[in-house]
Amino acid sequence: MQVTEIYKSLQGESTYAGMLCVFVRLTGCNLRCSWCDSEYTFQGGRKMTVAEVRNEVLRLSPGGGLVEITGGEPMLQEKEVVPLMQYLLDDGYRVLLETSGERPLQQVPAGVVKIVDVKCPDSGEQGMFRLANLETLAAHDEIKFVLSSRADYEFAREFTARHHLAERVNAVLFSPAFGKDAAGTRTSSHCLLDPQELAQWMIADNVSARLGLQLHKFIWDPAVKGV
Ligand code: SF4
Repeated sequence: MQVTEIYKSLQGESTYAGMLCVFVRLTGCNLRCSWCDSEYTFQGGRKMTVAEVRNEVLRLSPGGGLVEITGGEPMLQEKEVVPLMQYLLDDGYRVLLETSGERPLQQVPAGVVKIVDVKCPDSGEQGMFRLANLETLAAHDEIKFVLSSRADYEFAREFTARHHLAERVNAVLFSPAFGKDAAGTRTSSHCLLDPQELAQWMIADNVSARLGLQLHKFIWDPAVKGV
């Protein structure tokens, strides 16, 4: 496997935000979202075997806990990632998979919590979501829309309603995008869409979704990686 980093920190997003978590961040992505904060994963990294990755997770969090497989786009390494996730489930971990939604998800083990992006217009990658992935969703999964404009919000609101997402998954997350060059102050002023404005829209529309903020951007300097 090609791995950018493995580290222990606090989960920053999803309904697991705030919990201790080991992150396995894999190298490579086939998309280029305009606000991507993980461009450092596009190249480089180091080769590791599935067994080496599993052992590193065991070392960082012995005896179980939360582990997230992320990237980049982890499902580009499906051949290795699927058995890795199954090993970690068998080891007693709660396994999260953070994915762009563009790769097929049929082979993901049933016990894995999938956190699946649907790319909105201003990401520059609208239309990349694989609709067949909707059929793979389980009640414990989560769908995430990263929003940077009113147009993104309206797209997310319509997509959520049209596909009855709130009834299919544990959470539908509407999350303001962060400016990718954000650094220094740990405030919402770095958000490309003001969270207060988003909150007001959601309240006015009675949206069946949860507003999510990237907790780690408020705890550490937004420019710091590997936290
Ligand atoms: S899918 Fe994720 S890693 Fe890939 S470009 Fe978009 S935000 Fe970045």
